This record gives sequence, C-alpha cells and structure tokens, in this order.
Amino acid sequence: MLTVEKSKNAFSEALKSIPGSVNSPVRAFGAVGGDPLFIESGHGCYLNDIDGNRYIDYVLSWGPLILGHLDKSVVKALKEVLKKGTSFGAPTELETHLAQLVKDAMPSIEKIRMVNSGTEATMSAIRLARGYTRRDIVIKFDGCYHGHVDGLLVQAGSGATTLGVPTSPGVPEDYVKNTLTMPYNNLDIVKEVCREKGESVACIIIEAVAGNMGVIPPKKGYLKGLREIADKYGIVLIFDEVMTGFRVSHGGVQALQKVTPDLTTLGKVIGGGLPVGAYGGKAEIMDCISPTGPVYQAGTLSGNPMAMASGIATLEKLKKRGVYTKLERNSKRLAEGLKRSAEEAGIPTYHTRVGSMMCTFFSEGEVTDYESAKKCDTERYASYFHGMLEKGVYLAPSQFEAAFISTVHSEEDIDATIAASCQVMKTLKK
Ligand SMILES: *Cc1c(COP(=O)(O)O)cnc(C)c1O
Repeated sequence: MLTVEKSKNAFSEALKSIPGSVNSPVRAFGAVGGDPLFIESGHGCYLNDIDGNRYIDYVLSWGPLILGHLDKSVVKALKEVLKKGTSFGAPTELETHLAQLVKDAMPSIEKIRMVNSGTEATMSAIRLARGYTRRDIVIKFDGCYHGHVDGLLVQAGSGATTLGVPTSPGVPEDYVKNTLTMPYNNLDIVKEVCREKGESVACIIIEAVAGNMGVIPPKKGYLKGLREIADKYGIVLIFDEVMTGFRVSHGGVQALQKVTPDLTTLGKVIGGGLPVGAYGGKAEIMDCISPTGPVYQAGTLSGNPMAMASGIATLEKLKKRGVYTKLERNSKRLAEGLKRSAEEAGIPTYHTRVGSMMCTFFSEGEVTDYESAKKCDTERYASYFHGMLEKGVYLAPSQFEAAFISTVHSEEDIDATIAASCQVMKTLKK
C-alpha cells in the first residue's frame, strides 16, 4: 500500500480554505474515489508527492508539459526573464516571437492574440465570431469541452439536437439559448440544422480531436464536411486546439487532417506550463478585435513575459527535427502495450490514440461520441486507476480524460507502465 499520510493531512487542511481542496474540480479524485495526492515536485516524466512517492506522470499538468517537468531550456528562459521584470502591461518582443512561432506551425493563423487560459481563448473567439458575422448562434458538440465559458457549458438531450440547456447551475437559460449542441462525428445533423438555421449561425466550435470525453478522433471526412458547411453558410469554423495544438503534431489537428479553420484556439502546450491561451486565424477576422476593430477583448496580464518565455522555449524545442517522430514511436509503443495488457487479462477495452494523446476506454464497443463514451464502465476504470497508482503510474483520475506522454518518457518508463498495466488488468473484476 502507498503511504499517503502527508497528502491526507494536507487534504484536510486545504478543505478548510479551498472548496473540495482543489482549484480545478478534476484534480479532486471525485470520479475515482479517494483523496487527491499533494505534489512536492516534478522532474522529467516523474511526479513526486509530499510523502515521497514517485510516479510516472501521464497527466503532465493536463497536457502542457510536453517536454516534461523542469525542462532545462524552459527553466533557463524563465531565469532570464526574472532578471528583467515579471510584467509591464506594455508590449514586449517576446509576444511577437511566440506569435511567429505559432504562425510558422499553423499557417491558418495569420494574426493571433495572447490571453491567459484556454477558457479565455474560446470565450474571446466566440465573441469575435459573433461580432464578425453579426450573428448569435453557436454550434458546439456534445462532450466537447471548451473551458468554463457560460455559453459553452451546455449539454444536449440524448442524441437529438436540442436547444441549449445549461449543464451548470449559475448559467442562465438566456445565456445558452443561442448555443445549439449536437452529437460529435455526425455530419448529417449539422447539415440538417444548417439547412434551416445556417444563415443565423455565427460559428461552429469543435475539438478537432475530442480530448475531454476521453480521446475521440473525428471520423474520416467529418472535419472536411464541417468546413464545407461553414463555407456554404458563411459560418466561422473554430478549431479548439487548446489540447491538441503542438500535441498531436507540430501543426495540430489541422495539419494532420489538412482542414483549415477560420479561427483556432490554443493553450496548454503553447505556455509550456505557465498560464497562456491564445486565439488566432484569418487576418480579416482577427482585425475586428480592439484596438483595430470594435469587438472588445483585453487582459492585464495577457502576453505576460514569463508565460511568453516559457512558451517560446517550448515551441523552439518542438521545432527540432525528430521530436514528433520519437513522440509518435513512444506513444504507439505505450498504446499497443496497454491494449495488449487488457487483451491478455480478458478485459474489454476500446483504445484510441492521436499522436501523444491516448485513451483506454473500459467499453465493450467502439467509442465515437459522447453517448458511446458514457457507456464506459467507470467503476472498472476507478479500480484500474488506483491499481496503477499503487504501482507508481499517475493516470488522470477520470475515465474521460486523455493520457499524455512527453518527450522525456523513455522506452523503459513506457515498458514499466505496460508491465504495471498487465498486472493491474488481471486484478480487475470481470
Ligand atoms: C483545457 C481545455 C480548455 C480550457 O483551457 P483552460 O486553460 O483550462 O481554461 C479549452 N478547450 C480544450 C479543448 C481544452 O482541452
């Protein structure tokens, strides 16, 4: 058994001041039971809790740490900034540098604005799309998460298209009445809705590879189909690549699938572990934001020098030859090993992977949308999660999250993880 006494104490202490002990809900072990571990430090692909246990980390701060913890060039870049000042509220060249690095990797982005989180990025992108088109309706997809923006915290009724119903108390019906949600990976429904309402739709926002209901890749032709619909009705197509940008490939999903969105939202990897978000796309649309245009959006700490420096150091390293080839090789090794571990133990699972993000669904059937994802055996996932934790492997404390690998996970780390999975799978109740 793991000794987690200090974490337990830290947890009860935190509960006195912080709701649920956490500053973001998914950090609590709500979906798997038990109390969250408190972290002391991270080095490379390892995470150390305050009781001195070490884990191989597949959460990586929920995606940003593609270079692992305390990457040398990120640390060096941050030290440089600390000699000069942490924030100025005036432009720095660092912002232009990061903007250029993003543009080089994603040609669909002609202009870009930095913000402080993925949520801010999607919120701003939607306002911009509405301001640009002078239309109100937003189309989103069931099970796609775009941050905790009021108008995007919406779920649809089962399968059918419905008018938005808020997922969270505190979100007035009025805020979501212009949000239409529909099932992921179903082009016909989008076509049908747009036949009637297309001229009133401001934007379609989508996780081009879904990563917040587990990992669900788009079906062949799906994104291309959305592009065609958007073109037909003058709708702004937004790819939310907060998770997938610089993760599934250097150019994100749009490079893999060769589909060009009008706007892209980014976050996570582009901050290399510091708080950054960004949205960018066609210059014609981006120039509608203030101060060039009338759509207002601002931020006291936006483009913060520490965050920019960390992002620059990360993206510079990701430009090097062979980085994504190695990530791909190791990701494939892990995904195949995890699949084998389930098969050998006779546990039904469905495996998905795009680049260095992957998911083991404890599901009898294929998982292609939110409906099928929800059929997973989440109790079995919880047992698997705790079994893996005991063996020193830190997975996301929820079935509906991705596992990420970094450039510093070695073949040995991966093989140790597969070996642990083989043992744990065999202990799961059939
Ligand atoms: C994480 C995430 C967000 C929200 O980003 P925050 O920085 O947590 O606000 C938005 N969209 C997607 C696809 C994400 O994965």
